[in-house]
Amino acid sequence: AQGERESLYLVNDFAKEFFEDQLHKTQEGKAVGLSYFRERGFTEETIKKFNLGYSPEQGDALTKAALEKGYKLDYLEKTGLSKTNEKGSYDFFRGRVIFPIQNITGRVLGFGGRTLKTDKKIAKYFNSPESEIYNKSKILYGLFQSKNEIIKNDECLLVEGYTDVISMHQSGVENVVASSGTALTEGQIRLVKRYTNNITILYDGDAAGIKASFRGIDLILEQGMNVKVVLFPDGEDPDSYSQKVSHSELLEYIGEKQQDFLHFKANVLLKDSENDPLKRAETIKDIVKSISVIPDQITRSVYIRETSHLFEIAEQALHNEVNKLLRKGL
Ligand code: ATP
Ligand code: MN
Ligand code: MN
Ligand code: MN
Repeated sequence: AQGERESLYLVNDFAKEFFEDQLHKTQEGKAVGLSYFRERGFTEETIKKFNLGYSPEQGDALTKAALEKGYKLDYLEKTGLSKTNEKGSYDFFRGRVIFPIQNITGRVLGFGGRTLKTDKKIAKYFNSPESEIYNKSKILYGLFQSKNEIIKNDECLLVEGYTDVISMHQSGVENVVASSGTALTEGQIRLVKRYTNNITILYDGDAAGIKASFRGIDLILEQGMNVKVVLFPDGEDPDSYSQKVSHSELLEYIGEKQQDFLHFKANVLLKDSENDPLKRAETIKDIVKSISVIPDQITRSVYIRETSHLFEIAEQALHNEVNKLLRKGL
């Protein structure tokens, strides 16, 4: 119901303020949370812009404060902020730094919470569960803060994580969103499509990042949008990289390393085996598969021609293969 949705928003608003107060105004928050953000190179301004916060170690600080203010336990549980067991109710996020997740109008739908511990057994991020107001497949982290720059640049940069969005903003590149906490979905791409037809994927330069970018490419092409890819050096992500270099070096890197999906796939798939004919054939088939999901026929033809030049293979053979895949798809 509408009333219940509003109640969930209000509980999240309260929590957002609570976490921010904890970060800026308490001993623990300052000593633990704020110093963590400072160590990562986040400025005061950046921390405020993204409403970053801190949830104290103590088991039920938020739950208690919210109940005292008259917020109902039912809503605290539905937003995932509180959990209840035999012993009572406690906070879901404890001893974590907090990233509020907002919709395009700025309302808080949920939170990401990062542990400050380096123990690999502890999940690095906790995320709020889905709720009546939070559908993860239809939210992009940072879209609220980035939408104007996305329109202005007619381009949306897509990164993996919260901190990638934040550090890039701090570095003056503000047309960035993240599909945090989920694999990229069609719903998220359609959100971007309201503002631009051009997406550039900036994923981590590790195996997981490459795999995710392959999936992303086809989803984006299916929506009739243009997609480019920038790979970061292995071991770097947009966050770590933009903390290392200047604004102009970051822009230069993105400009120079950006490849259209076709060249990106060709380079990754062929890597050290350009002269292996079977590998070439597989690569061509893989690329043709991506081309076949593009809805517009003329765009498909343009990419087929490009593929034909790149691999020195007859256009007709590629057309035949695309048509075969299209028939299969029907
Ligand atoms: P950091 O720089 O703080 O280590 P990151 O964003 O670089 O974070 P990655 O490991 O690259 O972290 O993961 C990318 C994104 O995937 C994260 O921002 C987070 O949204 C999500 N994620 C990572 N680990 C988990 C996890 N254990 N559970 C849920 N989501 C996660
Ligand atoms: Mn990674
Ligand atoms: Mn990362
Ligand atoms: Mn990172």
